[in-house]
Amino acid sequence: MIPTTGWNLKHTYAELPEIFYRNQKPAYVENPQMVVFNQGLAESLGLNAEELKKAPGIFAGSQLPHGAKPISQAYAGYQFGHFAMLGDGRAVLLGEQIAPDGRRFDIQLKGSGLTPFSRNGDGLAALAPMLREYIISEAMFYLGIPTTRSLAVVLTGEDVIRERVLSGAVLTRIASSHIRVGTFNYISVFGTKVDLCKLADYSIMRHFSWLENPDYENKYLMFFREVAGQQARLIAKWQLAGFIHGVMNTDNMAISGETIDYGPCAFMDRYDPDTVFSSIDTSGRYAYKNQPLMAAWNLSKLAEALLPLLHKEQEMAIELAGEEISKYWDCYHENWFAGMRAKIGLVSEKAEDAVLISELLDLLKQHKLDYTNTFRLLSTFLPIDENPNLSEKSKLPGLSELSRLPELLGLPETPDFALWIKKWQNRIKLQNQNQQDTIELMQKHNPALIPRNQQVEEALTAAENGDLTVMTNLLETLSTPYEKAELYSLPPESKSCGYKTFCGT
Ligand code: AMP
Ligand code: MG
Repeated sequence: MIPTTGWNLKHTYAELPEIFYRNQKPAYVENPQMVVFNQGLAESLGLNAEELKKAPGIFAGSQLPHGAKPISQAYAGYQFGHFAMLGDGRAVLLGEQIAPDGRRFDIQLKGSGLTPFSRNGDGLAALAPMLREYIISEAMFYLGIPTTRSLAVVLTGEDVIRERVLSGAVLTRIASSHIRVGTFNYISVFGTKVDLCKLADYSIMRHFSWLENPDYENKYLMFFREVAGQQARLIAKWQLAGFIHGVMNTDNMAISGETIDYGPCAFMDRYDPDTVFSSIDTSGRYAYKNQPLMAAWNLSKLAEALLPLLHKEQEMAIELAGEEISKYWDCYHENWFAGMRAKIGLVSEKAEDAVLISELLDLLKQHKLDYTNTFRLLSTFLPIDENPNLSEKSKLPGLSELSRLPELLGLPETPDFALWIKKWQNRIKLQNQNQQDTIELMQKHNPALIPRNQQVEEALTAAENGDLTVMTNLLETLSTPYEKAELYSLPPESKSCGYKTFCGT
């Protein structure tokens, strides 16, 4: 029997006008080698994982899969606030795989050689940054944060010249599309109004097909509202998880609402809203605390591109867009508060909850507490003992009773944390909820495991030296982030403070 690899590639993006892309074959490489292959993801896409994991040539770009029609997409972007023409400088889209459930996914190779958009770059990628994207995107997926995913990383067998000579690699990225805010920025500057309409209609078809209703009076305004809503929900999830993207330029913001382009990103260890990891972000533009604002800034650049479609009078179009941006803020705050309430086990809503939450965050900041571990360990202060014979003082599960807690949290000898715990416990008692359910709610919203910077670095260093076991173990552990796993949830060692990430281009 001839093995079937399961490719079912379609090419709707390539049916858009030529301004949107260039035909571009990936570069041929002689000796590709599989490094990591995502079996579960392959199967969910309807691909034959057993066959494909033995076919590194397909994921290096040397051998095109059945029905592929490779293109590089054109886009621009506001990078640190400044407009730039970009495009896929080192990526090709092989096509759109239709999964067995009917969903459509872009299959993109990243690091597969020069394209018409390469500018001064070499079109290549090195092993460590591609594995980094693989690890963090998969971790995000298991944390329940919308994201592009990673199907494979292969070594090309060729060198990549950076500060030193590195091993070349190609990542296969799976996305519900690669339409970016930057794609709209590009068309609004270099395309016609017809092109803009086509892009908006195409985006609606890919992501918001319920808007394809002739009865809707202003479907482009509704499209903008949907995109903004997706971003609001996404950024709230980033903030709640302590994820810092690092380079939120408009070319790195997907219309789908998936996290995209894992460059200098990282998870925050100690809680500090000013945290910046990216070595290129010297002004802190994309610091943790600025992410909601930067998403709004990017949305305003999307709105600017869409203005001609929103209303025939520009002033009116601007007003409409402004209203949508303020709805973005409402949606963001609502999602963030709902998420924070769940993190501290609250099922009901009270006006004073906002203060309770901000006091906790202040304590985290003041005592430089680990963000992930503190929230995760909070549920160990439940259930609250209701035994009426106990004195008021001993009813409080004090820090001394939970002897490992101060050590795990790195708590100082100050009473303020204990006072906050007491206040919070009183609030928990008010909601008349089974406390076991409250604990479960908290555990579902507070991961025990995030990709700790130092662990990721160790996995990458080992992989560069040919040992993949560290990474395989890390990936395995990160696939159940809400289950208890002591080793990985320990606070980071001081080594990872002052951690810097590099674009790796
Ligand atoms: P990124 O920082 O990955 O979002 O990339 C920003 C822009 O630079 C995109 O247009 C990329 O395609 C391009 N780019 C990044 N690295 C390279 C490279 N090595 N060769 C060519 N283009 C690149
Ligand atoms: Mg990018």
